[in-house]
Amino acid sequence: MEALDKQDPLRAYRDRFHLPLQENGEPFIYLNGNSLGLQPKSVRQFVEAELLDWEKYGVEGHFKPIDPWMDYHELLTKSTAAIAGALPIEVAVMNTLTVNLHLLMVSFYRPEKGRYKILMESDAFPSDRYAIASQAKFHGYDPEDAIVQLRPRPGEVLIRMEDIEAMLEKEGEQIALVLLGGVNYYTGQRFDMGHITRLAHAKGCVVGFDLAHAAGNIQLNLHEDGPDFAAWCTYKYLNSGPGSLGAVFIHERHAHNPALPRFEGWWGHNKETRFNMRKAFDPTPGAEGWMLSNVPVLPLAAMRASMEIFDEVGMKALVDKSKQLTGYLEQLLHELENERVRIITPSNPNERGCQLSIQIKNGEKSLFHRIRAKGVIADWREPDVIRVAPVPLYNSFADVERFVEILASSMEELK
Ligand SMILES: *Cc1c(COP(=O)(O)O)cnc(C)c1O
Repeated sequence: MEALDKQDPLRAYRDRFHLPLQENGEPFIYLNGNSLGLQPKSVRQFVEAELLDWEKYGVEGHFKPIDPWMDYHELLTKSTAAIAGALPIEVAVMNTLTVNLHLLMVSFYRPEKGRYKILMESDAFPSDRYAIASQAKFHGYDPEDAIVQLRPRPGEVLIRMEDIEAMLEKEGEQIALVLLGGVNYYTGQRFDMGHITRLAHAKGCVVGFDLAHAAGNIQLNLHEDGPDFAAWCTYKYLNSGPGSLGAVFIHERHAHNPALPRFEGWWGHNKETRFNMRKAFDPTPGAEGWMLSNVPVLPLAAMRASMEIFDEVGMKALVDKSKQLTGYLEQLLHELENERVRIITPSNPNERGCQLSIQIKNGEKSLFHRIRAKGVIADWREPDVIRVAPVPLYNSFADVERFVEILASSMEELK
C-alpha cells in the first residue's frame, strides 16, 4: 500500500486540500467527497481577492478589476467545458442544480398529446423526483401516469441496459423526455449516456442527464454523446463549497435557436446590449442564454480554486488514479471474505465512478456511528448501505486500507 501511494503521480494534491481533523488532531479518513468536496487551501485567496475588489471599487468592480464581475462567470467556462467534454458555448455556471433542472425542463419538456411521459429511475435522488413530478403537474398531468420508472428487476439493485432498451422500444413514442442520472447517487451505477441518447433520440425523445454524481468523477463526453441537456452541482466532486453554484450543458444543436421557449432574464441577454435595458430579449447564443441573474461572485471565486486544480490535473489522470484507488478498495473488501459485506455498485470499472455502495447484511446505523468514532467520514443510507467515495484528488491508498480495517473491526465488535 505504501508503494501504491509512493507511485501515485497525484499524491501531492492531497496537501492542496484542508482535511477535516478529529479531536485528537489526526485527519479524518474522508470518504464523502460525493456529498461535499473538501476545501482547496487556495479558496481563501480567491475569495479574498474579490472582497478586496469590492472594498476598493464598489459598483465599479463590475468593470475595473483585472477580473471584472460583469464577465466573471466566463472565467469558469473553459474548465467546465473540459470537465463536461463539451464545447465552451455548451456550458454555463449558474443557479443551483434543482433550479437548473426546472429551467431546463421548461425548455426541454414540451409534452403534447400522445407524447407527454418522462422516463426516470425508480431510485432517483428525491429532489429530481420532486422536480420532475411537479413539472408534469404544472403541465396538467398526473405524475402517476406521466412518469415512467426504470426499475431494477426483482431481487436486483442495478438497472440493466437491456431493460432500458426494452422500455424505450415499448414506450418510446409516448415519452417526451428521458431524464436519468449519469451516475446513480445510491448505487454508484454509471449509465452509457451515448447509447441511451442514441436510442432515445431514434424514438423522438428529448434526453437530459443529471450529472451531480458524474461531474468531476468520470470522464464526460457530452458533446459527442449528444444529450440535449445536462445539469450538475459543483459542491460534490468539484469542491466548490457548500450550496455553491450549479452548471448546465445545452447541446450546440440548440445554441442558435431563439425560438426554443425558455424563462428569460437579463444575464441571458446579449452582452453588447444588456445594459440598454430597453430592447426585446436577445439571447446570448448557447448555454449562457439561459442565465437569469447577474452572477454571485464570491462562490464563483471559491470555485476557481478547485477549477485551477482540475485544469492542472486533467480528467484523464484523475480517472486513471480513480480506477486504481476504487479497484484497491474493492479488492480489500473482497479479501475480507465476510459474507455480510456485499458491494452493490457494478464491478466493471467502466460502469461506475469512484463510489462504492456497500451493503452490510443485518447492518444498522450503530455500525456507521462506530466507524465515524474511529475516524471515518462516510455516508449511511437506510436501511443498510454505506457509501464511500475515495476521491483521487485527495484520498490515498492508505485511507482506503485504513477504512477497510476499521469497517472489519467495527463489524467484529458489533457481532
Ligand atoms: C446532490 C444532488 C442534488 C442536490 O440538488 P441541489 O439543488 O444542489 O440541492 C440533486 N440531484 C442529485 C442527483 C444529486 O446528487
